[in-house]
Amino acid sequence: MRQKIVAGNWKMNKTLEEANILASEIKGMVTDEVKGNVKVILCTPFPYLVAIKNLLGNDPRISVGAQNCSEHESGAYTGEVSAGMIKSIGIPYVILGHSERRQYFGEEGKLLAKKVDIVLKHGLVPIFCCGEPLEVRERNEHETLVKKQVEESLFHLDAAALQKTVIAYEPVWAIGTGKTASAQQAQDMHAVIRKHLASKYGQSVADSISILYGGSVNAANAKELFACADVDGGLVGGASLKSREFAEIIKAV
Ligand code: PEP
Repeated sequence: MRQKIVAGNWKMNKTLEEANILASEIKGMVTDEVKGNVKVILCTPFPYLVAIKNLLGNDPRISVGAQNCSEHESGAYTGEVSAGMIKSIGIPYVILGHSERRQYFGEEGKLLAKKVDIVLKHGLVPIFCCGEPLEVRERNEHETLVKKQVEESLFHLDAAALQKTVIAYEPVWAIGTGKTASAQQAQDMHAVIRKHLASKYGQSVADSISILYGGSVNAANAKELFACADVDGGLVGGASLKSREFAEIIKAV
């Protein structure tokens, strides 16, 4: 049975005090209701990772993730944060290839493959994001592009490494826009990704990979999206900053 995951991407939001309040509200609201096979991950800004990890304590149902890391091991890369550092503070997850990283920081296939490698090398779980911009969908080239994104950054992995990876399909036109993919659009693309994984790694490996949907998930649409056969949970931006709404999304998975 695939791991169900609801990850909140806090992006560059909140002061430390606000972050502590949000995390304790979420912890208080969700832990008793998180089902056995569901993992909640709060992807906070770097400066708050340790504080939020300590606040959440040792509960296997809810943990913390970073939003990015360097492709380099260590050295003269001012301002960067390495996978080894993230590992050393006990943070198990790292989002990689978010569309905002692709768009504003020029991150793409080969670089992201390096980041995936270094994250896995340190025993962390990459949450690898892929997804097409609006103009690509309008040209009906979304399947081709997303398959290419997955291929370029993940297909060099062996099956065991791939199975330690989480994929998030996030159509760029749905991120932060309030415009969600329909459940059918999400299911179609998740099935395309899974079939593509199966073409390289075989069906049973493909069937074991959690593929999350991201793009304006909220309390009202989460149930329908999460009910899709190939949608294994969500990567949630804006709605993860509101404890009550995020708790509803978690209950929907
Ligand atoms: C995201 O940042 O990954 C995201 C999906 O954002 P939102 O839920 O706000 O669209």
